[in-house]
Amino acid sequence: MSDQLTAPPSRWFIEAADDELTIFERSREGRRAFIAPRLDVPERPLDELIPAELRRREGARLPEVSEPEIVRHYTRLSKRNFDLDTGFYPLGSCTMKHNPKLHERVAGLPGNADLHPLQAAGDAQGALELMWRLQHSLGEIAGLPHVSLQPSAGSHGELTGVLITRAYHEANGDRRTKVLTPDTAHGTNPATVTMAGYELVKIGTDEYGNVDIDDLRRHVDTDVACLMLTNPSTLGLFERHIEQIAKAVHDVGATLYYDGANLNAIMGICRPGDMGFDIVHFNLHKSFTQPHGGGGPGAGPIAVAAHMEPFLPRPQVVRREDGSFDLDHDRPHSIGRMRGFQGNYGVFVRSYAYIRSLGAAGLREASEVAVLNANYLLARLRREGVLEYLPAAYDRICMHEFVLSGAVMKRELGIRTLDLAKRLLDHGVHPPTVYFPLIVDEALMVEPTETETRETLDHFAAVVAEILREAATDPEIARTAPHTAPVRRLDEAGAARHPVVRQPL
Ligand SMILES: *Cc1c(COP(=O)(O)O)cnc(C)c1O
Repeated sequence: MSDQLTAPPSRWFIEAADDELTIFERSREGRRAFIAPRLDVPERPLDELIPAELRRREGARLPEVSEPEIVRHYTRLSKRNFDLDTGFYPLGSCTMKHNPKLHERVAGLPGNADLHPLQAAGDAQGALELMWRLQHSLGEIAGLPHVSLQPSAGSHGELTGVLITRAYHEANGDRRTKVLTPDTAHGTNPATVTMAGYELVKIGTDEYGNVDIDDLRRHVDTDVACLMLTNPSTLGLFERHIEQIAKAVHDVGATLYYDGANLNAIMGICRPGDMGFDIVHFNLHKSFTQPHGGGGPGAGPIAVAAHMEPFLPRPQVVRREDGSFDLDHDRPHSIGRMRGFQGNYGVFVRSYAYIRSLGAAGLREASEVAVLNANYLLARLRREGVLEYLPAAYDRICMHEFVLSGAVMKRELGIRTLDLAKRLLDHGVHPPTVYFPLIVDEALMVEPTETETRETLDHFAAVVAEILREAATDPEIARTAPHTAPVRRLDEAGAARHPVVRQPL
């Protein structure tokens, strides 16, 4: 008893969390949330409706609970998680911007929500038109006119793009073996390269945070199929030598791939196609307001230059000469299908609503404010003295995000970037991305996005400064944080390697 009284308040939350029963444990035989009305048509034997071999042999093991129990159970669980509708979520590289609620309204319209994926093209003209128009808008934003909406995520867009690169080289009778990525690349880039059967070659970063041009020149030859690049890079910096890089890559006949995860910094300001990129992926769940986190659904459409168009996935959404919309399967050089059906349609509706409600000028303004917010926040952190312990990895004007290094903080205050990140949760702020990019020691990558107010940014800077002050007198508090979340430090590697996803019955 006395133990409990002296324990930090967090204990209570942990025990409450451990106490949470699963929905199956709440089950009581015969309890119901809904009772179907009495049958008002003649009863027919089930065998007439569903053949016996298609029916389950024993009843589904579903929990039997009342409606209030269901509502409370899931509402309680939902409050255990940190989400964008609750607080600031400056997760670098992920663009956790506000998702306008209007988009949910539009995606939920019966014509959108009730659409069947096997509906004949003639009966789904509105949906096909929306997809066709979205393709057109994305092509315009990328500066590359030919778009496929099929890939389901950025990483899936990467795989599609690199397979298209392979098909393109093979069509030219050209066998190439290597793909280059900078050492700042997102982990999905090397994974894509390996999955597509290429050898990965890493290119270094120079002292200003740009691609090391000399290192690139050393590695770029006619064995190279492609260079995958993120611009602005994962350091939040605009690649200053992009024209030289594009030339070096094209001179050896390789393609230039644009990882579009950071498109939020440049929409409507400059276009990857104009920089010399041949293939672009978009993360509609990052730049174009599809809610994300928790694993999807997302969409990673790609846009390509004219010389790669024949290889796009099949089918393509097209407009026929008579003005009708259709799915074109007649694409002999296509790499084939990348997934079932046409992609995550609800995502397309939200992204299209976003593009149309902002318009070209609005998209540009969104990017400008995203960059302004990041630079404002960096300046604010400097003024609060935070950068003395967490210096910017490369001290330049940043784009929509910036990367700090916690190495000095670790040495002088005895807390690591992970500790700072966890302590932020106690202040109602989601941690920024940590330990990425890999080339920055104790990296902390902050992306405030355009949708946050100045007060929120000021609050974040003040909270980080407060955590550093606290660490100077008692580093143990941050080292054992979070103290107010439902759980404390998790075994993340264990959770990934041995996930328990099924309740034993
Ligand atoms: C998020 C991200 C990806 C992968 O995109 P997913 O949609 O998560 O598959 C690739 N590159 C960068 C730089 C990213 O931030």
